[in-house]
Amino acid sequence: MSYCPRCTGCQDFWATVAGWACRQAGLGGKFRLMRVVKVPLGQRTYAIKIGLGLLRRLGAECSRLQLGQRCAVITDGQVGRLYAAGALDSLRASGFVPALVQVPVGEQAKSLITVARCYEQLARHRLERRSFVVALGGGVVGDLAGFVAATYLRGIPFVQVPTTLLAQVDSSVGGKVGVNLKVGKNLVGAFYQPRLVLCDLDTLRTLDVRQLCAGLAEVIKYGIIYDAALFRRLERDMPSLLARDPETLAAVIARCCQIKAEVVAQDETESGLRAILNFGHTVGHALEAITGYERYLHGEAVAIGQVVAARLSAAVAGLSEDEVERIVALLQRARLPTTVQLNRAQRRRLLNAMRLDKKVSGGQVKFVLARRIGQVVWGQQVPVRLIEAALDRTAPGAGSGAGPARGPAVPAG
Ligand code: NAD
Repeated sequence: MSYCPRCTGCQDFWATVAGWACRQAGLGGKFRLMRVVKVPLGQRTYAIKIGLGLLRRLGAECSRLQLGQRCAVITDGQVGRLYAAGALDSLRASGFVPALVQVPVGEQAKSLITVARCYEQLARHRLERRSFVVALGGGVVGDLAGFVAATYLRGIPFVQVPTTLLAQVDSSVGGKVGVNLKVGKNLVGAFYQPRLVLCDLDTLRTLDVRQLCAGLAEVIKYGIIYDAALFRRLERDMPSLLARDPETLAAVIARCCQIKAEVVAQDETESGLRAILNFGHTVGHALEAITGYERYLHGEAVAIGQVVAARLSAAVAGLSEDEVERIVALLQRARLPTTVQLNRAQRRRLLNAMRLDKKVSGGQVKFVLARRIGQVVWGQQVPVRLIEAALDRTAPGAGSGAGPARGPAVPAG
């Protein structure tokens, strides 16, 4: 079945028809329609496939890419325990010769030391130019394995199999790969596109609820920056998303991937438009940095950052107070933090960390701000006093003009 490349509307339509037909045939939960989103980048165009049971099809899907026989599945300990055997079996059944490369769980695996260990194992398994890497895991594994693939033998193909919601809607799409240095996150990397992305919704069943909610912060972001109809859908369907209903997840993940694909197709290397994907990230990254990357998951920090960005948007970009309240309410319904308590010293560190963010250019902190839900502007300089005022309103009781307390206050370290 081929789909209209501009929207997910027809996929929604066929999904509804197929869902109805399955239910009529007594197949209810077995409904398996796959959604496909294309990332149109000329010769490097690739598909993102979203559906149930896709991990079992990994080998068959890789067979279509005309790659070499040898490959390496890079995964972390936790995902490996759950899904590595299935991935390896599927690859072997399609005639591939896979090796398993296991890396530690968590952000510390995104390091040059782990990269070097991966290279050693690829070499030991005699991977050559046409061999490929499968990144099986969340954003950490995707960024790391993608960087390994981008640099081993000056670049070998790789396939993303993202297993967290954040990775399915964000990090596996668009080709940003890289690792951290001690002095900062994602400071070494490349733009290197995968050959295929397989989002198996079954894998989300084992995901910790806090991780699922962190992914929802990025989902909500897409509604704010690009698609008011998606935002309204999230307001309606949040309970189904939290219940991990596959049909709702498939439709929402496909829409998010499509938005990212459209943005990346216009600005692959972030010289303009791609910056809109950073809505809420200026404050979010700074909050992660001053709390040692331990207190918040990325999505949680970005949720707080989006609240600050929304308040700034109301102050300088025309976003209505009503829409600010809708954004805060939706983040709260996704069980995300929307407030943060900062004392004077912590606030100074936060502002300094914002100036150190790698997205700062010419020493100026630039924000992505919303004119309304569904439309943003980027590269906006904002006076520090307005940032302070937005922080006051996001830290109930901590400063002047604090609004009513909403959601759990989360102390910064
Ligand atoms: P993660 O990769 O650390 O995964 C979170 C945890 O969930 C890990 O413990 C992992 O083992 C576990 N896990 C993963 N899938 C699971 C599953 N299906 N069932 C059970 N447990 C599972 O975290 P993340 O939030 O996916 O990714 C965060 C990383 O993504 C950060 O390093 C961030 O910089 C990066 N990122 C990259 C981009 C990009 O464009 N490249 C965009 C956003 C974020």
